[in-house]
Amino acid sequence: HAKAAGKGRYAIFGEHMEALLQERRLLETDLRSALNVGDQFLVLYQPVFAIDGVTIVGVEALVRWRHPEKGMIAPDRFIPIAEETGEITRLGEIVLEQACLAALLWDGLVLSVNASAIELSGPEYASMVQQTLKRTCFPAERLEIELTETALMKSDDALMTNVNALRAMGVRIALDDFGIGYSSLARLQKLPVDRLKIDKLFVDDLGADSAAEEFLATIIKLARSKGLSTTAEGMERAEQLDVLRRLGCDCLQGYLLGKPMPADAIGQLISDN
Ligand code: C2E
Ligand code: MG
Ligand code: MG
Ligand code: MG
Repeated sequence: HAKAAGKGRYAIFGEHMEALLQERRLLETDLRSALNVGDQFLVLYQPVFAIDGVTIVGVEALVRWRHPEKGMIAPDRFIPIAEETGEITRLGEIVLEQACLAALLWDGLVLSVNASAIELSGPEYASMVQQTLKRTCFPAERLEIELTETALMKSDDALMTNVNALRAMGVRIALDDFGIGYSSLARLQKLPVDRLKIDKLFVDDLGADSAAEEFLATIIKLARSKGLSTTAEGMERAEQLDVLRRLGCDCLQGYLLGKPMPADAIGQLISDN
């Protein structure tokens, strides 16, 4: 009896797997054609605030895929596919161009754009950025490229060459999702980055957990001693703000202060700020 039930479970599991694979193949095909045209990709912008929690100092560009039948698809569902198929390079160009053109209107604010390790390992990445900046007339000094900590830890020569070339152009580099990648502090000292973006995971426990606070205090102190700026990601509650301010964090990002929104909405928010 138990054996039969077990078999049934595997059959259901198998069907489920098959459905997942099917879904994935469809997305892959759709993604390829969407990237040929490019107009299905919508860039949203989340405001980044100074530690006063009031002044907007920048925006982070976050892509969405407006699928004609499936509706809005989150990046976590299609970025991994784009990375595997190599199409992330094209997607990265589309997002960067769209974001630079939009942010041109937001005087003086920093534009942060995410890039995956695959993009930054392509030999052409830095020159693609340079050409896009030139074409859109967007100043390099206002652009920041976000790279995850794990990506930079696995860094190959091509990635390092790109990072150095970008910094030489005046583009800043931020280490995204910082804290979850197990980088040693010794290694961190040698990385050519300008900002640490502290992962939401460590921000979540603030206010309730003193170990979380101690950890953040150490990170922020270290960042300061190296001349790096810090941004806390995923701030959702007011009590987190109090702790981050006390610890000397530089910038704040999170649903409490502003969610990702379309260009016209963030434009309005910025002009009212
Ligand atoms: P990320 O760069 O770490 O971006 C932060 C994510 O956290 C965003 O999710 C944002 O909407 C979300 N978030 C911000 N504040 C809060 C908060 O207070 N609470 C909660 N629960 N979430 C918050 P999103 O937009 O779904 O993006 C997910 C990830 O996809 C990004 O993580 C980034 O790694 C990647 N991504 C997004 N756009 C691009 C892109 O254009 N290129 C590449 N390569 N990756 C991208
Ligand atoms: Mg990011
Ligand atoms: Mg992050
Ligand atoms: Mg993330």
